[in-house]
Amino acid sequence: MNRQDILTSLKTHSPDVLIVGGGINGIGTFRDLALQGVDVLLVERADFCSGASAASSHMAHGGIRYLENGEFRLVREAVQERNRLIENAPHIVRPLPTTIPIFKVFSGLFNAPLKFLGLLERPAERGALVIKIGLLFYDAFTRGQGTVPPHVFDNRAAALEKFRRLNPAIKYAATYYDGSIFSPERLAVEVLLDGEAEGPHARALNYVSLAGADGKQVSLKDEVTGRTFALTPRLIVNAAGPWIDQANRTLGLSTHFIGGTKGSHMVVDNPELRSAIGRNEFFFENKDGRIVLIFPLGDKVIVGTSDIPVEEPEPVRCTPEEEGYFIDLVRRVFPDIKVTREQIVFRFSGVRPLAYTQARNAGQITRDHHVQEDRLGEIPVYSLVGGKWTSFRAFSEQVTDRVLAFLGRSRRANTRALPIGGGREYPGTGYVQIQFFNRVAGETGLQSTRPKVLFDRYGTRAREIGAYMASGEDAALKNRPDMTRREVAFLAEKEKIVHLDDLLLRRSMLAYLGQLTRPLVEELAEALGAVLDWSTQKKQAEVERALGILADRHGVRLA
Ligand SMILES: Cc1cc2nc3c(=O)[nH]c(=O)nc-3n(C[C@H](O)[C@H](O)[C@H](O)COP(=O)(O)OP(=O)(O)OC[C@H]3O[C@@H](n4cnc5c(N)ncnc54)[C@H](O)[C@@H]3O)c2cc1C
Repeated sequence: MNRQDILTSLKTHSPDVLIVGGGINGIGTFRDLALQGVDVLLVERADFCSGASAASSHMAHGGIRYLENGEFRLVREAVQERNRLIENAPHIVRPLPTTIPIFKVFSGLFNAPLKFLGLLERPAERGALVIKIGLLFYDAFTRGQGTVPPHVFDNRAAALEKFRRLNPAIKYAATYYDGSIFSPERLAVEVLLDGEAEGPHARALNYVSLAGADGKQVSLKDEVTGRTFALTPRLIVNAAGPWIDQANRTLGLSTHFIGGTKGSHMVVDNPELRSAIGRNEFFFENKDGRIVLIFPLGDKVIVGTSDIPVEEPEPVRCTPEEEGYFIDLVRRVFPDIKVTREQIVFRFSGVRPLAYTQARNAGQITRDHHVQEDRLGEIPVYSLVGGKWTSFRAFSEQVTDRVLAFLGRSRRANTRALPIGGGREYPGTGYVQIQFFNRVAGETGLQSTRPKVLFDRYGTRAREIGAYMASGEDAALKNRPDMTRREVAFLAEKEKIVHLDDLLLRRSMLAYLGQLTRPLVEELAEALGAVLDWSTQKKQAEVERALGILADRHGVRLA
């Protein structure tokens, strides 16, 4: 069903479960409920995966540093979920060698137990011994699964041999494995589409917001037309992330579940730094005790992140002070590589929807997740508090089990080993991949390099997209020859694009990787407009809207 069909169907039919919020936790719950045959509607007031879920550091990780807060359950779960993501979505989530440069040997040895006992608020530099103990635990959680190799501890000489630009003041470097989520926004949409593919009982709408509640009715607003309409769900899942308390207020409930912290990142185009880190993320403690990262993203580098308590989830932007902080932190690890503000091609920022707490140090607030239950008259309202991108599946499973218990139904499928989108039947090795490219080329007649380009972007969905592209007249984009007009048309038709910025920021990596130019933005508006039936005026308005968002939220100014 397309957007209009879904909106029309809601005039005569109200779903059993209404999910408010299309971040990864709402989407994960949507997919799981869809698999159980539950009649469910998800509404997202902006685009899917445009809130906290679009601000992540792109790590599928257990969170080694949470061990020192004593959060063993959380870390064990997240490490297992990291492995599942690598296995279920191999086209987007890949094993990520992660290196910790270590400047001290014994430091932190006494702090860690104090922190564990809650007696120490301020972070103190972790030395080699504390890090080694943490890594032994980390490996132990998934020993025997073989998804990623165990950690390696290098002495100074070996580390400098591997990373020649590394600060010679280091004492050791430890390398362990986590996962990298290349494009969280694409992954989220693929999870959502998998949910919808389960049947017409599962529907999702972006640009529809929760607008109010009155007795048994909940009112929703179509943000495109401004029209409101009412539904009578049996249960509401509030998955509004940092906006959970606001969404509850809209329902007439007074809650204080969230105490968020802001985090920003910048993406830099610095070939020297990109080559210095190789395939590795550098994850380390900055001078002030904050854990920060330098992360490979295609041919660019992400540097982040901050962790600043905020009262309100909006507006958050990467500030010039944060940029300065990020530029400085690179110097700590790679002292002779200069990063400048001119090299920043993209900035992004968001609020972690953490549980409200009195903790003074933001780094110590738990990243664990739980469900809070309220009632709107007879209707239960489940608020999904906390969590990490990495553990969305486990969180969604927990919520789904609770919803099923309320509805008096039993689970009929689980998501643990369920492939996601283009991760289905994924050819893992080089030879099998070449066979896959040949098969797509044979089925579609696409020229030799195109199947590989599609495979790199969409995994095994390259077959479906290739077939779509081949079924009509197609042409490469003038300003981006590795993309075609029918590829854009496919995304518009099948991936719920409403605005041009949905394509630039979330269905593709063009904005994140600093690949946009004004002529390309205009050409993409033209290609989208042809499918979405946009007038000349509407196309121009979409270009202006996209340029405004890029400039305001991401510091990207296209001449
Ligand atoms: C800076 C930063 C770095 C992070 N790094 C990592 C990392 O590397 N790895 C990791 O595992 N996790 C990471 N996280 C955590 C992770 O991103 C979040 O925990 C997760 O994305 C939260 O998802 P969510 O669905 O709960 O919230 P969100 O993604 O914020 O989704 C909530 C949605 O609700 C919508 N909404 C709000 N109000 C309404 C309404 N009235 N009607 C309809 N819709 C509404 C919003 O538009 C939003 O899209 C990071 C988070 C941040 C902020």
